[in-house]
Amino acid sequence: MKRTKIKELLITPKLGSDVLVKGWVRTKRGNRNIAFIAVNDGSTINNIQVVADTALFDENLMKDISTGSCIAVKGRLVESQGQGQHVEINASEIELYGKSDAETYPLQKKGHSMEFLRENAHLRFRTNTFGAVFRIRHAMAFAIHNYFNEKGFFYLHTPIITGSDCEGAGEMFHVTTMDLKNIPRNNDGTVDFKTDFYGKETNLTVSGQLEGELGALALGEIYTFGPTFRAENSNTPRHLSEFWMIEPEMAFYDLDDNMDLAEDFVKYLIRYALQNCREDLEFLNNMIDKALLERLNFVLGNDFVRMTYTEAVEILKASSEKWEYPVGWGRDLQAEHERYLVEKHFKRPVILTDYPKEIKAFYMKQNDDGKTVRAMDVLFPGIGEIIGGSQREENYDKLITRIREMKMPEKDLWWYLDTRRFGTAPHSGFGLGFERLILFVTGMSNIRDVIPFPRTPKNAEF
Ligand code: ATP
Ligand code: MN
Repeated sequence: MKRTKIKELLITPKLGSDVLVKGWVRTKRGNRNIAFIAVNDGSTINNIQVVADTALFDENLMKDISTGSCIAVKGRLVESQGQGQHVEINASEIELYGKSDAETYPLQKKGHSMEFLRENAHLRFRTNTFGAVFRIRHAMAFAIHNYFNEKGFFYLHTPIITGSDCEGAGEMFHVTTMDLKNIPRNNDGTVDFKTDFYGKETNLTVSGQLEGELGALALGEIYTFGPTFRAENSNTPRHLSEFWMIEPEMAFYDLDDNMDLAEDFVKYLIRYALQNCREDLEFLNNMIDKALLERLNFVLGNDFVRMTYTEAVEILKASSEKWEYPVGWGRDLQAEHERYLVEKHFKRPVILTDYPKEIKAFYMKQNDDGKTVRAMDVLFPGIGEIIGGSQREENYDKLITRIREMKMPEKDLWWYLDTRRFGTAPHSGFGLGFERLILFVTGMSNIRDVIPFPRTPKNAEF
């Protein structure tokens, strides 16, 4: 007999038919004569209730079925007599795949703290909350590919090990096969990378953008979707040292086109979640964040505010808020400033543009004022920055001047500069932090709880 997933069984219940389900026991209650066993197989937030007449089964088997154990159940699907479910299974055969000792099973009781569940990340998938989060995470990954595929973007795989350290000097993880106890050195004491695996210094990527641009300037519209790594020591609820990023890069887009795409893209993803993850979202709305569904619908229904960094600084300066970090033209905005604009001042998502060039990357298109660049940050309620992007500087002379001003390793960038020497074109792109999106869509409050195995400073257990 073929196994039926619980999701399928509940969507189109064939009453009176014999079914086989397999899953993990969430709860068992009852008395000497009858047992009610709630089984979940991960396909849906909903459990199926198994009703077992204890007289039909071995006494030891019944004893061994407890929270966390794994069973296969054959039986007849019938209308439920009790409250809380429409259908249930009258068990005729039960096979115990794996016991779960009630004394030592960490998830024996309900209502554990998020911290406790993080320490038990290997088991937390079995809770309702994390089941919902990771089903939604899957749905969002799928929707991202769907969105770009429908629009004719090509999925480009940019390298994870990179020989360029132009993006995030200082916050990169080294990749090496050198013997760390015996590091070869040059006469001046610097490390001699010539004998290392690649014959040069290499790192884990902090962004696929530079390579993405190479793709866009030939394929037209591309996106990357892969892991990125930042060795920054920021222990916040919004930073991981290993996270996933989606980076579309488009030829012939200016900053307005870029903003239009970013807004349309995140709205598509939210709409997709509302349409396809309804039960999981309703669960999270009830248990985690009572304003979740309202917030998702609100973002869908409203245009994002678009304004310049300079205008935003004026608003922040005029507010009576007490800031932890000072506000002033030329300073980078902190999460507290971003969230004030979104949550208190405008009460909706905001896209800020035209930041001072000193606080942004070398590749952003320079404005005629000589002070600002065509950057855009998309700011979201509860999150702060969810997207960072820009129109790229396509002019070779301006780009090289900026690279020299910033004392960047010009000769390592020869391949990037080639795009500006041979058939350059106006183009734009942005990076969406996948986990920040999942935070927003699930209403979870810590980024460690929306990635299966979070990597943060001093934490790489699993
Ligand atoms: P922040 O100021 O919040 O640290 P950033 O300016 O460093 O962000 P970008 O370099 O523009 O971010 O990266 C693009 C996107 O990647 C960000 O908008 C954010 O969604 C996400 N992101 C950046 N750093 C992290 C991180 N450490 N963990 C998770 N997501 C991140
Ligand atoms: Mn950062």
